[in-house]
Amino acid sequence: MEQCSFCKIEKLENDFYMYSIHNMTRGRVQKGYVCKRCSDMTYGDKWYPIIGYDEKCEISNHGSVRELRENRYFNITRVQNAGTSYVYLTKNGKSMRKNIGPLMKRFCTER
Ligand SMILES: [Zn+2]
Repeated sequence: MEQCSFCKIEKLENDFYMYSIHNMTRGRVQKGYVCKRCSDMTYGDKWYPIIGYDEKCEISNHGSVRELRENRYFNITRVQNAGTSYVYLTKNGKSMRKNIGPLMKRFCTER
């Protein structure tokens, strides 16, 4: 069993709604699990497709970005010390850093 990062509810690994993978120092990998309820409250409950990049991503009404990989949603949002959020997106094989604000303006069509 794994635990939701927020409410600590225990579920089977496959039963979570959102996943995350953080590469830590010395090659350690930390995995995160979030249930549907906590995801809706924390990351937003409306998702809009981000078009024009190699990844299959969506951005939420709360400014989180998730990527669909192997039928799972991965939260790929990164937060800077100052509180600015950004993501890395790939276009034609080239990785680009994108701030969340402009992405929301562009893709969150209804608010
Ligand atoms: Zn939860």
